[in-house]
Amino acid sequence: AFEVLIVGGGPAGAAAAIYTARKGIRTGIAAERFGGQVLDTMAIENFISVQHTEGPKLVAQLEQHVGDYDVDVMNLQRAQKLIPATSEGGLHEVVLENGASLKARSVILATGARWRQINVPGEEQYKNKGVAYCPHCDGPLFKGKRVAVIGGGNSGVEAAIDLAGIVAHVTLIEYDSALRADAVLQRKLATLPNVQIVTSAMTTEVLGDGEKVTGLVYKDRSGDARHQVALEGIFVQIGLVPNTEWLRGAVGLSQHGEIEVDHRGHTSQPGIFAAGDATTIPFKQIVIAMGDGAKAGLSAFDYLIRLPAE
Ligand code: FAD
Repeated sequence: AFEVLIVGGGPAGAAAAIYTARKGIRTGIAAERFGGQVLDTMAIENFISVQHTEGPKLVAQLEQHVGDYDVDVMNLQRAQKLIPATSEGGLHEVVLENGASLKARSVILATGARWRQINVPGEEQYKNKGVAYCPHCDGPLFKGKRVAVIGGGNSGVEAAIDLAGIVAHVTLIEYDSALRADAVLQRKLATLPNVQIVTSAMTTEVLGDGEKVTGLVYKDRSGDARHQVALEGIFVQIGLVPNTEWLRGAVGLSQHGEIEVDHRGHTSQPGIFAAGDATTIPFKQIVIAMGDGAKAGLSAFDYLIRLPAE
């Protein structure tokens, strides 16, 4: 059995592994895809102290750093079920999709999240070529350009306010007949001169020239008319979904499916910790996920040293 089993190999899981391995405790990582969302990222310019890097390069460095320690990395392994220990200090069990089962004295959940997609033609083709999901990450790449934000909930309206200060023009597209964001955000949005709000609009296509985004098409839901908007960037803000479906019933989840954690990364189960985008910790970013993973690693260590000797 492992002393610490980490599920997830993104920035949070990798940081947790390095911290626990450096304590000399037997550490394993089971990850569906080592690197996580970072593998899907091109330019990264807000990973503090590294002015510019690229996702695959950062993942290779993460892999090397983890590889410097005695960590059992089980890549391409998807966890299907978590069975918490029945007594405090007992072994937790993680069942993998391939039928195998891993046992560990403590578990760190770091399965991350995924952005909900609009699933229209062009979205996949132009990902990282104009189609973006993270305004904190990619906003500055569109300085002085025209963008659309798809989604009029809190994250969409926050993104539109944020981007309006950087880009030339923002078109905010909402499917419903009214925005759903908090009133205070909507009031702020209404004061911005370079934002146009379009409601009752269904985005049907991302347009491009083969290299990058050139526009989008939306259908007016109150009729049949289709409209084209010329622009350089599209921020999809229709939800970030935590990869926690497999944890239902095992640990406490918020109404959005995020793993509920306290400021030390403890979940509702003793000996089970969580870190990164899969949790209720706000602001989903690489530096935050890494700090959070380190914290969960140290909390797992704290837990283990307090267990009575076997
Ligand atoms: P993830 O990176 O999501 O990793 C989760 C890990 O868990 C993966 O290894 C995954 O395979 C694994 N996993 C999931 N489910 C299971 C399961 N059931 N069993 C086993 N393993 C599982 N942030 C920045 O700070 N700067 C940026 O420039 C930036 N750009 C981004 C661009 C894009 C396109 C995207 C999608 C995100 C970007 N982000 C950026 C956000 C950043 O990537 C995330 O905040 C960060 O990766 C979260 O780390 P994590 O370890 O919590 O989760």
